[in-house]
Amino acid sequence: MARFIFITGGVVSSLGKGLASAALGALLQARGYSVRLRKLDPYLNVDPGTMSPFEHGEVFVTDDGAETDLDLGHYERFTGVAARSTDSVSSGRIYSTVLEKERRGDYLGKTIQVVPHVTNEIKDFLDIGADEVDFMLCEIGGTVGDIEGLPFFEAIRQFSHDKPRGQCIFMHLTLLPYLAASGELKTKPTQHSVKELQSIGIAPDILVCRSEQPIPEKEREKIALFCNVRKEAVVAAYDLKSIYEAPLAYHEQGLDQAVLDAFDISPAPRPDLSVWEDVKDRVEHPEGDVKIAIVGKYVQLEDAYKSIKEALTHGGMANRVKVSVEWVDAELFDREDAAPHLEGYHAILVPGGFGERGTEGKIKAAEFARTRKVPYLGICLGMQMAVVEAARNLADLGDAGSEEFDHEAGKKRFTPVVYHLKEWVQGNAKVKRKADDDKGGTMRLGAYDAVLSAGSRVAEIYGTTAIDERHRHRYEVDLDYREQLEAKGLKFSGMSPDGKLPEIVEVSDHPWFIGVQFHPELKSKPFAPHPLFRDFVRAALENSRLV
Ligand code: GLN
Repeated sequence: MARFIFITGGVVSSLGKGLASAALGALLQARGYSVRLRKLDPYLNVDPGTMSPFEHGEVFVTDDGAETDLDLGHYERFTGVAARSTDSVSSGRIYSTVLEKERRGDYLGKTIQVVPHVTNEIKDFLDIGADEVDFMLCEIGGTVGDIEGLPFFEAIRQFSHDKPRGQCIFMHLTLLPYLAASGELKTKPTQHSVKELQSIGIAPDILVCRSEQPIPEKEREKIALFCNVRKEAVVAAYDLKSIYEAPLAYHEQGLDQAVLDAFDISPAPRPDLSVWEDVKDRVEHPEGDVKIAIVGKYVQLEDAYKSIKEALTHGGMANRVKVSVEWVDAELFDREDAAPHLEGYHAILVPGGFGERGTEGKIKAAEFARTRKVPYLGICLGMQMAVVEAARNLADLGDAGSEEFDHEAGKKRFTPVVYHLKEWVQGNAKVKRKADDDKGGTMRLGAYDAVLSAGSRVAEIYGTTAIDERHRHRYEVDLDYREQLEAKGLKFSGMSPDGKLPEIVEVSDHPWFIGVQFHPELKSKPFAPHPLFRDFVRAALENSRLV
């Protein structure tokens, strides 16, 4: 049975709970333990799949096809443990399960209440797979005191009470604001936050205090005394230059030791941190610099492309260079020349996206990269737009486009070289969708196998011809245009195992031009950069030496 670590936050939001959880997971692994990380989100959406990336950031997709919170991306990047659909839950999902059960009559006519029905559902969720790992780390979204979070806090309180003594601990993240006028770190908000937790029956074992300034011994003692935690369990979290320094930084501040102490694990196994020392060294000592443009629509909120940004950083680490990413709004050159906006970058990446807005700009970005021989990586919509560009400009299909945009506009304007996929094979089963399935969870989601053509550039990059990658899309490049496009140099170098769905295209006569229907960024890790990102950054570096 796993030991449980519940991670909560207080004082303000955005303190980096997800990062602290992920870093702690990595540190426990470094001491030889197996871990799994989970996120419990208090919002009422059933999953983040239909939430705007402007508001909620990227949707992280798991191998088993769940659309989850971007914190699961942090968890995977730090621990390498593939997240599952059962690692993320929202109030919306919990309530809808409870209400389904009520409609089915499962509760035998009882009055359905938050306690015990909702809390029991949360507790059952926490127990899933608990016998598979040494530690289960469960992060509660939001901050203590939020109305919507209450059922989760009550559930974890009950859960720790139900389990044998010593099986669960609570770690609480707070902020120590610095008052420049008095030159002091203030501990009062932390004290209040802990009081709030205590008032709902939870006594934290560990406090992680975010602070811009070093925490003086005197303040640490004060926090320990007033918040009823041991002094060594008051752990400082200072601002870091790179998130990948977090495991080492938390280790130096004693977080993993404090956790093991809280569980009474003695003697503590010694940690092997060599992986993180190497990662830190690569981040801190780059030997060059490349400039990459991400041409997208959600450029105002960088979190919308979180995993892509991180995967590029990993690609940089693999090549020992710093990747400077600049976000270029595709709409800027929907109607004008792309060149002035894209000259000067060593490579161009067009990420995934939904809807027509900005797509003419993305098509121009693909054209610019293809004709100017600038390395191009098109991801999902970025691949589809590269195909549209090739169809228009190489294969004489001047009105080529995606059915997605015709559907959106409610009229037919394009020759659909990218069409709405309604039937496909997943494993041994057929999946079917209707034309009007446009809500959450109706896409081709999760891991699918692909077969790469022997001798293709991608087969060389991956070092294999059999891969699996994560998908999240409704539309697909139409195989009917394969011959026409291949004759003009756009090769279909990766296909679904049944040969029906194009997974990868590449331009043969180009230093590096690849479009992928899937999301490789979701599987990249700092200690194991994704091959496509590793090689894309290498190509950017090579290009930087030419210009
Ligand atoms: N909108 C496109 C589709 O649904 C691309 C999706 C994506 O980029 N993730 O196929």
